[in-house]
Amino acid sequence: MSIQHIKEILSIYEQKRRKAEKLQEKNIQNVYERFPRIETIDNEIRKLGLIMTKSLLKSSSNAQAIFENYKQRTDQLSLEKISILKENSISIHFSKISYSCEYCKDTGFVNTGKKCSCLKQQLINKAYSLSNLSTVLEKENFNTFDLSLFADVAHGAQHCSPRQNILEILSICEHFVMNFSKVSQESLLFFGPTGVGKTFLINCIAKALLDKGKIVLYLTAIKMFEILEGIRFHATKDKKIYDLLFDSDLLIIDDLGTELTNAFTNSELFNIINTRILINKKTVISTNLTPEDIKDRYDDRIFSRLLSSKYCCLKFYGDDLRAM
Ligand SMILES: [Zn+2]
Repeated sequence: MSIQHIKEILSIYEQKRRKAEKLQEKNIQNVYERFPRIETIDNEIRKLGLIMTKSLLKSSSNAQAIFENYKQRTDQLSLEKISILKENSISIHFSKISYSCEYCKDTGFVNTGKKCSCLKQQLINKAYSLSNLSTVLEKENFNTFDLSLFADVAHGAQHCSPRQNILEILSICEHFVMNFSKVSQESLLFFGPTGVGKTFLINCIAKALLDKGKIVLYLTAIKMFEILEGIRFHATKDKKIYDLLFDSDLLIIDDLGTELTNAFTNSELFNIINTRILINKKTVISTNLTPEDIKDRYDDRIFSRLLSSKYCCLKFYGDDLRAM
């Protein structure tokens, strides 16, 4: 993501912070106007704090007594304040700033200096809006999935009709979303020809997980290898997307097999798939290739990972819905 886009997001954070601070000032002012005694109490508590600090600087040997005295007086004032607030049904937290994200206080960063999950999500949302996928997700999600599009009659030599088959796949995908954070949950490999619902289901999963606040990165295989080649051979500084290939909660690689395969793509693909298995991050891969094609086209170690117990392989079939 470009610096410009990150700046745009951070300026929205600044606006949010200012808005929250203004609201806090307004809330305090409202309460002070209605109950001047509360303002007096707050001023008193502030003054007592200053007096205590000065006294401690003058006579540190008396620290215990000075502190006790301060505590006794402020406790009394605080109790009086709470009772006025309660009597008038005002929240005792009325003077607290109400941030939309309490973790980072609308700064986008947590105490350790790392990005807050809300900022990570904003960056992904931005990436989505840039790639136009967010509009697709409004149309293509679990709520709009239309089972009736799938024929309920036998298809070739398949045991189930396309409708029965997609119904089973749909339930596995819903299970995948529900159990997404479980270690035991497998990644998904969708295979089958074009136009039988693979990309639609990918969008369903992406939307459901984005709504759960998960970080989802969607890339076609061609785009993913373009990014990897840019970093490896042209020193492109697309490091954020590169990191997300490993860090995102869900990585979706759409249309695997449409890229030009060579030693470089083989080794990068293995690295991504294998690393994500090792750090228990889920991946969804869709491809028009059959398992046999995958075996012919990619390294054995890629084939063995994709066809291992870490991946649930789902076969899509039926008539091309796009041609209907
Ligand atoms: Zn946050």
